[in-house]
Amino acid sequence: MGGPPGGGSGSPGSDGDRGPGEGSPVGPLTDGPHPGVNELLAEARFLDHHVHTILAGRLPAHRLLEILSESNRPQAAHRAGMETQLGVALRRWCAPFLGLPAGVPSGVYLAQRANLDNGEVAARLLPAAGLAGLLVDTGYPLADVVPLEQLAVLAGAPVRAVLRLEELAERVIARVDRAEAFPAAFQEALAEEGQRAIGVKSIVAYRVGLDLDLRPPQPAEVVKATGAWLASRAAGNLRLANPVIEAFLLWSAVELGKPLQLHTGFGDPDLDLQRANPLLLTDFLRRTEGRLWVLLLHTYPFHREAAYLAHVFPHVAFDVGLAVHHSGVGSEAILAEALEIAPWAKVLYSSDAWGIPELHLLGSWLVRRGLARILGRWVAAGDWDLSDVKRFVEAFGVGNAREIYGLADADLRTA
Ligand SMILES: [Zn+2]
Repeated sequence: MGGPPGGGSGSPGSDGDRGPGEGSPVGPLTDGPHPGVNELLAEARFLDHHVHTILAGRLPAHRLLEILSESNRPQAAHRAGMETQLGVALRRWCAPFLGLPAGVPSGVYLAQRANLDNGEVAARLLPAAGLAGLLVDTGYPLADVVPLEQLAVLAGAPVRAVLRLEELAERVIARVDRAEAFPAAFQEALAEEGQRAIGVKSIVAYRVGLDLDLRPPQPAEVVKATGAWLASRAAGNLRLANPVIEAFLLWSAVELGKPLQLHTGFGDPDLDLQRANPLLLTDFLRRTEGRLWVLLLHTYPFHREAAYLAHVFPHVAFDVGLAVHHSGVGSEAILAEALEIAPWAKVLYSSDAWGIPELHLLGSWLVRRGLARILGRWVAAGDWDLSDVKRFVEAFGVGNAREIYGLADADLRTA
């Protein structure tokens, strides 16, 4: 034990020569004040319950910078460059895997990165994320991606697919010839593809916001809304952005009964952040209690609101993925806030990494570092016992996801 991913001594100031780590999943870890807590966090495997695959091929500097930003405006990403918490964390923790010193200048990192195939970088970084498994949202990105079977080999852990409702609906609307046919065609496709998926996911927050009428819509309303959607299809636009159809998709998912992931909070400006607050789902959560699990994804800056919902509703759980890598060293504060009132059985690990393996690694590594500091302080002060930490890490890392998604042994890396 005792160092960062990439091997080496673990002291943030010691940017020596570091090769890929050995031993524990992410290499040694010495961040927290309690050695026993450090060891538990270093050795734990995490089940990433919401993540994406990586892009295939090489990535020029401008493309990499765009992936490092949640903005869908290239100018915003280029203006930010790597002068962000994520950029610093990436240069600090990922550079050694590319044969570069920790903290290398951005230009050097980007130049080295552009020379390497993304899959080759993944082969170096993904094993160090220490994953027990990956539940992959296959709805984004759709093109030029590494297939799930290859992702599993690169990560050294099983992969299961999560079906994105809007992407499925857009495939169905592309082939139906009249509005009346859509509801049954969608539910048929959902039954078939949903059976193979480990869960379903919705980006209703992106498409229409969460402040919509989420009561089950009447069939006639769905047909009427589909008619408008078919008219926009005729004009060349298949994109679903209708609140009635979104409500129909969500209630179809309730009927399916598999765990339902809902994006909330921070994301690109396709969404209005004030309409992505998970508290807007309160009525939907009252109506769906006892029907299925609802997973509030990512949630920042509403992670305290999500923790409240997970606290009061038996079928609600949440994570703080995405914000972790974007906040870099600041993620410790977000993790601490997420743990204020949330029952442990309701907090899951996710990275929401996509595109580049740096994000998969940082999600895992920053959570380990943050928790080692937070939980280590509590144990060192006598507030928590080490046995409490052990139970927490088991539940957060794998146990909660295993129970909620009903994962089989084959879905998990156990060794
Ligand atoms: Zn995602």
